[in-house]
Amino acid sequence: MSEVAPGMDCIYKDPNAPVEARVKDLLSRMTLEEKVGQMTQIERRVAQPNPDLIKDHCIGSILSSGGSGPKEKASAQDWADMVDEFQKKALESRLGIPIIYGIDAVHGHNSVCNNGVHDNSIRGATIFPHNVGLGATRDADLVQKIGEATALEIRATGMHYTFAPCVAVCRDPRWGRCYESYSEDTEIVRKMTSLVTGLQGKPPAEHPKGYPFVAGRNNVIACAKHFVGDGGTEKGVNEGNTISSYEDLERIHMAPYLDCISQGVSTIMASYSSWNGRKLHSDHFLLTEILKEKLGFKGFVISDWEGLDKLHETRGENYRNCISSAVMAGMDMVMVPFRYELFVKELVSLVKEGKIPMERIDDAVERILRVKFVAGLFEFNFSDRPSLETIGCKLHRDLAREAVRKSLVLLKNGKDPKKNFLPLDRNAKRVLVAGTHADNLGYQCGGWTSSWYGESGKITTGTTILDAIKEAVSDETEIIYEEEPTADTLARRDLSFAILAVGEKPYAETPGDNLGGLVLPLNEADISLVTGNIPTLLIVVSGRPLVLEPWLLEKIDALIAAWLPGSEGGGIADVIFGDHDFKGRLPVTWFKQVEQLPLHIEVNSYDPLFPLGFGLTYKKEKSLN
Ligand code: BGC
Repeated sequence: MSEVAPGMDCIYKDPNAPVEARVKDLLSRMTLEEKVGQMTQIERRVAQPNPDLIKDHCIGSILSSGGSGPKEKASAQDWADMVDEFQKKALESRLGIPIIYGIDAVHGHNSVCNNGVHDNSIRGATIFPHNVGLGATRDADLVQKIGEATALEIRATGMHYTFAPCVAVCRDPRWGRCYESYSEDTEIVRKMTSLVTGLQGKPPAEHPKGYPFVAGRNNVIACAKHFVGDGGTEKGVNEGNTISSYEDLERIHMAPYLDCISQGVSTIMASYSSWNGRKLHSDHFLLTEILKEKLGFKGFVISDWEGLDKLHETRGENYRNCISSAVMAGMDMVMVPFRYELFVKELVSLVKEGKIPMERIDDAVERILRVKFVAGLFEFNFSDRPSLETIGCKLHRDLAREAVRKSLVLLKNGKDPKKNFLPLDRNAKRVLVAGTHADNLGYQCGGWTSSWYGESGKITTGTTILDAIKEAVSDETEIIYEEEPTADTLARRDLSFAILAVGEKPYAETPGDNLGGLVLPLNEADISLVTGNIPTLLIVVSGRPLVLEPWLLEKIDALIAAWLPGSEGGGIADVIFGDHDFKGRLPVTWFKQVEQLPLHIEVNSYDPLFPLGFGLTYKKEKSLN
């Protein structure tokens, strides 16, 4: 054992002692109840009415899920105050073990929006494009920078853990989480795992493989999810079943985890889904033999939200068995999030009755404490964090705008193959802007923004497509905006061109499965516009490819896939008016008909509308990755 520094009454409090010595020392002082408390993650709605329970149960972690904030219309300061209050309670516990506060900051610090707060000094967080758009950029450095910016914004609100990146390899766009996946192609997803380094910082060359890493006060704990095969389920069913050989599971879905582990990812979340009928949450082979033993992962494995309850067909029943099978399979921290008392009681009694050996509990708690020491949480200093000014700052918004520019995929440019329709003329006399998605920040951001499901309208600070167009055109250009243009407007002969932005409305997880039949929603006004005589650019705002009927493809003059670009719509104007060229390439196969699904690059009868990697540029060359 190492020497204790002067003034320190035990090794675990000594910041200069090696992490493993601190872990062992602290573990040796803990009661079974405290250990089980550390394995418990509760929701902030449980902690808020009674913060003392954090101290009394030695709770390991708290989360805000789906944007659940301290109060309605919470400002960034309110978030920071809430986390501080919880942390103070944790530090009052017998051994003073800090909590980890986790949040789904999956495309920026997306729960922190200034929804409804009409005070100009309160900005919302920077909302970056969802992963599918980042996959279109193929730009690992950009994604790393997004990780750095997101980490700063999270730390500014006192939190230190994000459930990101999602490294799912989405093989079927019927899955309602397709947009959380960077690509259907494993190699592209592997590249995009650079988000881990952005969030956590870059480990030094001598960093031991599999060991968690968090560089400092400007970084956060990352979580690669959902282990493993979440994007490969039959028919794209959320929480469904992935049927494959072990070799295919490893090659297609597990490979990105190797990249995350080699970057020192600190935590990994188990998937709700099953592999060949076996639920991942209780799969000892995958969680322990493969992830911890073969891949050498030394951080902690966390369950998904009520993932243990879902182990039983009748949700929540036979909870004791569910706890036992998950913990024995290798689950270290359990996202309870509401039934924590029952969880704690049952797990304690399972250990006392010898059904779960103490070594398994010790292994779990060691992993959790290791991450806490590595992340510097025992040396937590409330005042030492990035300022709230960081949230939504210009630097981050510029980065998001760059990401939007690079994520756009040009699918058609001109009816005549010899004549480009784009770039548009910023000096045009009169321009019509239309469609459900032209002036809707909430739709641009998609799910997991402001709330779990996503929202409509002016949910935060940002630039809609319409705002961006208005900024980009000359002072002489008249912009006519009608979400649904009237017959009179469409009959005008003095419009230079029209920009129609339509797409999917926000959704998240299961409710998004195959929502709307995967057909691009067009109302009567949209159809009249497209079938009329006004030259039209169609911008599709969606989390996945959608069916584009042949007549539509023929009628429109240009077509762009804009994915879910987030708060910085300005990036779209930068490209359509020609200040920048298109760089994005399809991260997923654009299918023709739903009946073709699943259609991805490895399917033999590959006959897409646009193949993986497709993307035009102004130079008219077709690029394929
Ligand atoms: C999702 C996870 C998410 C968790 C916490 C679950 O429903 O599957 O991706 O991190 O909720 O909000």
